[in-house]
Amino acid sequence: MTASASAQLIDGIALSRQLRADVAQRAAQLTARGVRPGLAVILVGEDPGSQVYVRNKIRACQESGLHSVFEKYDADLPEETLLARIRALNVDPTIHGILVQMPLPKHIDPHKVIETIATSKDVDGYSTLSAGQVMTNAPGFSPCTPYGCMKMIASTGVSLRGKHAVVIGRSNTVGKPMALMLLQQNATVTICHSATADLKSHTLQADVVVAAVGRRNVLTADMVKPGAIVIDVGMNHNDEGKLCGDVDFAGVRQVAGYITPVPGGVGPMTITMLLVNTIESAERVAGA
Ligand code: NAP
Repeated sequence: MTASASAQLIDGIALSRQLRADVAQRAAQLTARGVRPGLAVILVGEDPGSQVYVRNKIRACQESGLHSVFEKYDADLPEETLLARIRALNVDPTIHGILVQMPLPKHIDPHKVIETIATSKDVDGYSTLSAGQVMTNAPGFSPCTPYGCMKMIASTGVSLRGKHAVVIGRSNTVGKPMALMLLQQNATVTICHSATADLKSHTLQADVVVAAVGRRNVLTADMVKPGAIVIDVGMNHNDEGKLCGDVDFAGVRQVAGYITPVPGGVGPMTITMLLVNTIESAERVAGA
């Protein structure tokens, strides 16, 4: 990798368009065979951010020819009622993926909810079993955000073999599975977190940096090796209230080889990988 005055953009919208066209084609083929891929999306409560995410996911399903069921419940929904509804969807043959939008109201245990979803329909890839499948490289569903990041890295054509990747963040849904997926592609992986001493000393060694923190300007130009691939998972708001990532985009793009924008980067890819996981689930059921 070489230094460049301005990094190449990894366009999550354009890459999503390609992948969603493939999903739509596979959905049409399955539907013609009598199996219409179906995703159930459950929202509990009125969280404004969650309502936007859910709306975007349902729209994406519809645009790709997937059947979607949207169930919205009041914030005081008893936990057991939600679990019973998930058990019913687990055995519903028209549903191949179940997504419960997080965060849930405080009285509902998210772990119980996630573990109630059948592993065969866990298209978010959040359950303990799905996490184990990612860890052991067994067939299953990869969590959508790191899966999308891997597709974005692959789109550069740069092989990860022997490269040093630094993941900033160690959440169960993003940082940890991201590190495992990079490892599977033969990168040498460092995971950084809030207790990491001298973050810059690690990122400066990295051929690939994935920032998944949730804090603006965690990665600035002086922290990036020239030519590196920079993937920005973060979703924050700047002083003007506009969506921005964890990376100082304007500065880092002068140093990096490739960079993802926010918005228009990892966000749309996360939804795209949800569609990919749902279509794969339906194909398994159909024996395709
Ligand atoms: P999270 O659970 O809050 O994890 C954040 C991680 O960042 C933690 O591991 C934390 O370390 C680490 N961290 C905090 N401050 C740090 C610092 N100064 N230096 C290094 N590491 C630090 O968040 P998440 O769910 O992984 O999400 C991360 C970000 O990605 C958020 O902005 C979220 O909104 C965004 N996100 C975007 C998408 C998308 O589709 N674009 C999807 C999922 C998440 P400790 O473990 O030590 O606390």
